[in-house]
Amino acid sequence: MSATDPHMDDFTLLRDQLASGNVTLVAVSKIQPIQKIQRLYELGQRDFGENYVQELVEKAAILPADIRWHFIGHLQSNKVKQVLPACYMIQGVDSLRLLKEIDKQAGKAGKKITCLLQVFIAREETKFGLDEEELALIMQQQQSFTNVSIGGLMGMASFSDDGEKVGTEFARLKQLFDLYRERFSGEQAPVLSMGMSGDYQLAIQNGSNMVRIGSLLFGARQNKS
Ligand SMILES: *Cc1c(COP(=O)(O)O)cnc(C)c1O
Repeated sequence: MSATDPHMDDFTLLRDQLASGNVTLVAVSKIQPIQKIQRLYELGQRDFGENYVQELVEKAAILPADIRWHFIGHLQSNKVKQVLPACYMIQGVDSLRLLKEIDKQAGKAGKKITCLLQVFIAREETKFGLDEEELALIMQQQQSFTNVSIGGLMGMASFSDDGEKVGTEFARLKQLFDLYRERFSGEQAPVLSMGMSGDYQLAIQNGSNMVRIGSLLFGARQNKS
């Protein structure tokens, strides 16, 4: 890859734009080769997102230790133990059962881990996520988790060109975020993780302070074979 790779120019532009709005960029590097990740690292990027456990673990072992690896998307309970040591944040906790398992495994590992609760907001598709009652129930039990910090919320909008619909979904997540804002904890300020390559601008307009962007930075992904 050369320094004039168009995606790398996109990266510095996007990074500066997001930084000026205090929005954290998580570069979603799933299925991307080590060299491309290394290149962004050299340009100063530290937050990377992966959503296959094995891949995250393998990349974390090779790449610099100061990378903050975010596990994004659905995590199976039986993979928690494996992913925890390399993980900075788990984005996408979509059940109480999973949160309990993370708490238990983090305790065994002597680690405290920040998690975001994934809320179901997409009206169009079935996606993983808590509904509002489940979210309320978890927030009620928050004190019972000793090794997990609930750092905020995460959500994915419908894959749709209908900006009004997508905006409405993001606005709903922002409302819920505001409702619980005072109760989120963790190393950093409360996190509202919403927005991907196709909809991050709408997400930011609706109050996102963390975006997860893959294809816009790295180009289209090859299918995992
Ligand atoms: C793949 C993925 C992204 C990034 O998607 P792009 O459209 O490539 O930006 C963001 N969030 C989650 C949960 C993902 O799985």
